[in-house]
Amino acid sequence: MSGTADIPGPSLTLGELPLRPELVGAEPYGAPQFDVPVRLNTNENPYPPSARVRAHMARQIERLTGSINRYPDREALALRADLAAYLGFGLDSSNIWAANGSNEVMTHILQAFGGPGRTVLSFAPAYSMYPEYARNTHTRYVTVPRRSDYTLDADLVAAAVDEHEPDVLLVTTPNNPTGTITPVKVIEEICERVACVVVVDEAYQEFTEVPEDSSLALLARFGRLIVSRTMSKAFALAGGRVGYLAAAPAVVDACRIVRLPYHMSAQTQAIARVALAHKGEMLAQVLALREECQELQEWMRRAGLEVVPSQSNFILFGRFADRHAVWQEVLDAGVLVREVGPEGFLRLNAGTPDEMKAFREAISPIIARPGVVIR
Ligand code: PMP
Repeated sequence: MSGTADIPGPSLTLGELPLRPELVGAEPYGAPQFDVPVRLNTNENPYPPSARVRAHMARQIERLTGSINRYPDREALALRADLAAYLGFGLDSSNIWAANGSNEVMTHILQAFGGPGRTVLSFAPAYSMYPEYARNTHTRYVTVPRRSDYTLDADLVAAAVDEHEPDVLLVTTPNNPTGTITPVKVIEEICERVACVVVVDEAYQEFTEVPEDSSLALLARFGRLIVSRTMSKAFALAGGRVGYLAAAPAVVDACRIVRLPYHMSAQTQAIARVALAHKGEMLAQVLALREECQELQEWMRRAGLEVVPSQSNFILFGRFADRHAVWQEVLDAGVLVREVGPEGFLRLNAGTPDEMKAFREAISPIIARPGVVIR
């Protein structure tokens, strides 16, 4: 260092910092968080927990402040046991790993099984965070297009694996942003045909027609299969930040190597356990949201929109000549949806009946104008 004169002061910009080259020009990921009356852009559950559940959470938080000077349970064993009991399929805590959202779970998976010189393969259109997990773990990210109806079959997946030789294969069902499911029998065939780690992201599984029809049923047969879940969606706990995976105990051991010690706070563990103790109530709105989502799909089709059949709590719809203009106009009417997915499409999640009405009222005059929707 020559002297302080060379060191930039508080007006320092990012461009002047010795940032890692692959981060230069990158923007922090995130959907807009606007303060508008109707927010339907991040696939959240619109129903907060009941007063009874919230009071239980508050009591538990108050109790744990008495030992907040101590580190939390590093292994989150009680929470993992509760999650195993929730999932069933004969799983126990040794099969479960938990972290701050499935975002962190997925990062642990790639820290353990991806990394420099390794590849993760997914299928486009895919969840927008996947490339970020890959970049942050120095893993090469490759996508192969889904079929024209956004489904996947084992031949397409096996051919993509032959071509790209991934270390980790990532299949999302229902897929974000399309809502398309990949049946368990297809996942089974994939597991039979490939040798890499197979991650099935079931973030929205509880919203499907048959939630029990899950790849969890395959775990006993395939040691390299990982099923990822979250409490953010069906469990209405997005603010709690709890994601988890189910897999062979050896996979959990791999995640335990790469996690930061004490990665899950005592509060997070406590709140998640309360939510699981009231699972009936926490999941009570799933059926209503699924129905809301199906009804809205039918309404959209009747209104002349193109709708990707969704088995989740969100819908990809279009096709708009200028989707950004439609997004902006709907936002000006107080409804926030998401500009994501294939060109010409927008995505929104099922909300309360009042929110769905607000959306229909916002979009109806827009799509009635000639040229807005490509028919
Ligand atoms: N996977 C998919 C497919 C998602 O859509 C999301 C959230 N949008 C996540 C994972 C991450 O969820 P969380 O980190 O809140 O658990």
